[in-house]
Amino acid sequence: MTAREAGTDRGAGMDCGLAIGHLSLDLLRRYNVPGPRYTSYPTAPVWKEGVGAREYEALLLESAREDEPRPLSLYLHLPFCEKLCYFCGCTVVITGSEHRLEDPYLSTLEREIDWVASRAGHRRPVVQLHLGGGTPTYFAPDRLEALLARLRDRFVFSSDAELGVEVDPRVTTPQHLAALARAGFNRLSMGVQDFDPQVQAAINRIQPYDDTRPLVEEAHRLGFPSVNMDLIYGLPYQTPVSFGATIDRVLEIAPDRLAVYSYANVPWMKKHQRILEPHLPGEAEKFGIFQTALERFQSAGFEYIGMDHFARPDDELARARRNRTLHRNFQGYTTKAGTDLIGLGMSAIGEVGDGYVQNARDLAPYRAAVEREGAATFRGVRLTADDRLRKSVIQSLLCHGVIVKAEIERDHGIDFDETFADALERLRPCAEDGLVELLPAEIRATPVGRVFLRNLAMPFDAYLTAPTERPVFSRTL
Ligand code: SF4
Repeated sequence: MTAREAGTDRGAGMDCGLAIGHLSLDLLRRYNVPGPRYTSYPTAPVWKEGVGAREYEALLLESAREDEPRPLSLYLHLPFCEKLCYFCGCTVVITGSEHRLEDPYLSTLEREIDWVASRAGHRRPVVQLHLGGGTPTYFAPDRLEALLARLRDRFVFSSDAELGVEVDPRVTTPQHLAALARAGFNRLSMGVQDFDPQVQAAINRIQPYDDTRPLVEEAHRLGFPSVNMDLIYGLPYQTPVSFGATIDRVLEIAPDRLAVYSYANVPWMKKHQRILEPHLPGEAEKFGIFQTALERFQSAGFEYIGMDHFARPDDELARARRNRTLHRNFQGYTTKAGTDLIGLGMSAIGEVGDGYVQNARDLAPYRAAVEREGAATFRGVRLTADDRLRKSVIQSLLCHGVIVKAEIERDHGIDFDETFADALERLRPCAEDGLVELLPAEIRATPVGRVFLRNLAMPFDAYLTAPTERPVFSRTL
């Protein structure tokens, strides 16, 4: 059965449930190719090295001087974990139970916060803060509170700012949750991945359900308005049936949002992932696991936001998708469009004004650079007019599932069909496979095409034309 036969009727549309039915192995193989996740455009591998504190300072000052400066979104990278999960693709520092790097790291981070705050403009409200990692709750509760106090002292937070933190139930205590609630956090993102004991043993992450559930209950008791859970599909020993059992348990816990990430197997970049390779599910089985999640979460009342996210229909993420105000940045899907994203900490990425920057990816160079200059950026890019155009096309597709040609023509002063003749030609086979409709006024992902948004965006990426010897991106499914 082709994708077009498998439930791609227009009536299902963007606002209704997504049913993808059975897709042929041939189709899955053709579309399961290395491709960016488009949390930025241009994507990080094409950024240039040599973007240091001076260039970053210029970006910050220019953006702060604009007539209507954008509000701020802050991301802090807290990179430490006690143990390595074998699927991990993050930039982490594994320390075991010894926490002697904790305080020196916070001192460096505070210094970087001061440097950025004095250049980002004191009057620009912070509308979003996210602590990611690594494991933010690796840090003791009083350290996290002190960090928040420092940020509140240096920046002005809007009264309805969204304050989120990633929480690893294995090292998070009720005292952590109480400290985070006192500090004003209102979103918890809890790593679960899979509750199956065999999967947990294989990935080196033992996290019993009976430890996770009480933590969520405690979060609800403390009044956290939103609890998100992260799952991963495509891990060793997973099957649609075993993942279905994990989903049952997740639904018992009743989170508000869900992220169901595809396991990104990139052992040539993350060598520890080789351990997992002998027991990974095949392509068809992996997709079957995702399909199970899609069907089960939708029948439980969650809306499919796109890529890997689900939310309840009354959640602001779901509303933003329906209103076409959804945005995508390094934190994934967000409702906070039009901000400058300030990245703080080792390896953190920022999106400021017309550019992107990234901090040094290892601890020693990060600390040395901040001590020396106050900032630690080492690479970045300033967008050209062509980058801005393609960025908005890709954003539109990934966030709304549709590109309205007249909007792009109005915002960028181009003739869409002429400028993107090549991309439209490359999308033709996707249209024949039932993934996208190439209409006179718009390009619209079909319901089944919403699962393949990365593939549909790739023809608009000007930097993907030359294949590299070794893929720098994970596969799209
Ligand atoms: S807890 Fe998260 S960041 Fe730390 S090793 Fe596991 S997956 Fe990586």
